[in-house]
Amino acid sequence: MRRGLLGVLGLVGLLVVAIAVALGIGTWRSSPRPVAVAPADAASIDSEAVAGRLAGAIGFRTVSSLEDVAANEAEFDKLHAYMAQHYPLLHANLKREVVGRKALLYTWAGSDPAAKPIALMAHQDMVPIAPGTEGAWGVDPFAGTIKDGFVWGRGALDNKGNLFAQLEAIEMLLAGGFKPQRTIYLVMGDDEEVSGLRGAQPIAQLLQSRGVRLDWVLDEGLLVLDGVLPGLNRPAALIGLAEKGYATFFLTLDTAPGHSSMPPARSAIGQMSAALARLEATPMPGGIRGVAREMFGALAPEMSGINRVMLSNLWLTEPLVRSQIEKSPSSNAMLRTTTALTIVRAGNKDNVLPGRAEAAVNFRVLPGDSIDQVEAHLRKALGDDAIQVKRYPGNSEPSPISPTDSAGYRSIQEAVRQTFPDAVVAPGLMTAATDSRHFSILSDSVYRFSPFRVKAEDLPRFHGTNERIAISNYVEAIRFYRQLLRNSAQAAQGVQGTQ
Ligand SMILES: [Zn+2]
Repeated sequence: MRRGLLGVLGLVGLLVVAIAVALGIGTWRSSPRPVAVAPADAASIDSEAVAGRLAGAIGFRTVSSLEDVAANEAEFDKLHAYMAQHYPLLHANLKREVVGRKALLYTWAGSDPAAKPIALMAHQDMVPIAPGTEGAWGVDPFAGTIKDGFVWGRGALDNKGNLFAQLEAIEMLLAGGFKPQRTIYLVMGDDEEVSGLRGAQPIAQLLQSRGVRLDWVLDEGLLVLDGVLPGLNRPAALIGLAEKGYATFFLTLDTAPGHSSMPPARSAIGQMSAALARLEATPMPGGIRGVAREMFGALAPEMSGINRVMLSNLWLTEPLVRSQIEKSPSSNAMLRTTTALTIVRAGNKDNVLPGRAEAAVNFRVLPGDSIDQVEAHLRKALGDDAIQVKRYPGNSEPSPISPTDSAGYRSIQEAVRQTFPDAVVAPGLMTAATDSRHFSILSDSVYRFSPFRVKAEDLPRFHGTNERIAISNYVEAIRFYRQLLRNSAQAAQGVQGTQ
C-alpha cells in the first residue's frame, strides 16, 4: 500500500514538473520581440493652429437623425464650407463629390493607375446630447472650447477628431509636395450614427459601380487603451479586424384577456417572463476563438507576471482565463454573441389580465455566428412555441474578418509603432458598428482604428458627457495619418516594413 501511494505521489510530482516546464516554455516562447521601425516623419505640427481648427469644426451641430433625413442640413453645409476654407491645397488637388445628401467622397488621384487604391474613412455626423445631461457638461458641448490642454465638445473623439486629423495630414503632405503613387479615397459619411445607409453605403456602391477594388480601408474603431487591460504595463493599440453584427427580435405572446379576480394558472405576463428568464440564463456559446484569440496571442508576450503565464498557455488555462474574462461585460462581449433583453411591455390596468405580452431582445452577433443561428438559439432557449418571433428589418450580419498578414494591416501597424512607440499593437474585435461595414464589398482588408489614447475613465465620453481630446494626442493622430499615407501611398505593393 505504502509503495503504491508513493508511486502515485511520484506520478503526480512528475506531472506537476512536466506542466511547470510546459508553462515555462509557453511563456518563454511568447517573450516580447523587439521590433525595428523606420523613423517617423518628424516635420513639426503647429499644435495651437490644428487644435483651433478642430475646435472651430465642433461648432457645427452636424447631428444626424434616423427619421428626419434633412436634419441639420445647413450645419453640414457650414461644415463643408469651413473645410474648403481651411484646407485649400486639399480642395485644389483632390476631386470632391457630394453623395446622397451631405456625404463626401474625395479622390486624390495617384500617379500609377495600375496601383490598387486605398480609402480612409471618418464621419461628419455626431450623436445628440442625451436630454437631461446638458448640465453635466463642464463646457458648452457645441462651443469648441479649448481648456486645460484639451479640445472639448461633441465630436472631438467621435468623429471630427479623425476627420480633421486626416485633413490636416493631407494638407501638410500637399504643402511638402507629396504625390501619392496610388489613388487615395476619403470617405466622409453624414449618417454613420444612424446606420450609414444614406452616406457610406451609397459611396461604396458608387465606387463599386466604377469598378474600384480597394487594397485596404481604414475607418474609426478601436483605440490606444492606456491602463485598461489588466496585466499590461504599456498602452495597447488595437486594430479592429471585424465588427459584430446586430440582430433584434420582437416577441409577442397572445392569450385570452380576462378579469383579474379569476386568473388562469398562467398569465401572458408570467408565461413571457418565464421564457425571457430561460433565454437570459442560456447565453450563446462562446470561447477564446477567432479575433479574441489573435488579440490575446499578440498581447500575452507584453504582459507581466501571472497574466503572461496564463495567456501564453491557453491550451491549459483556457477555462480559467475564460471564466475571468466573462466576468466583465465588455470583455465577455468579445467571446460570444451577447443577449440583451431591451423591451418588455404588457398590461395597462391593475385589475385586467392583458391579452398580449411583448418584448424585444437585442443580440450582438460574433463574427462566425449568423442571424439564422441566433434565431434558432432564441427559439430553443425561449422554449415556448406560443411566442411569435419577428426580426427587426434593420438587422445586419457580422462583418467578415480582415487578415493580419495583408499589406494594409502591416502599413497601419507600422504607422502605429512609428507614432505611438510606447504602445503594443494587437488585432481586436469591434463590438459596436461603424460605416466601414459597408466597404466589405470593395475590399477583404477593412480595418477599424482611431489613433486616440484613452484611459478607462475616458470610454464613457464617447456618445457621453464631456467628450474631449488632448491637444497632444490630436497632434499624434495627425502624425499617425501622415505617416500612414507616407508608408503606403508610395509603395503600391505594400510597405516593406518590419513584422
Ligand atoms: Zn463614430
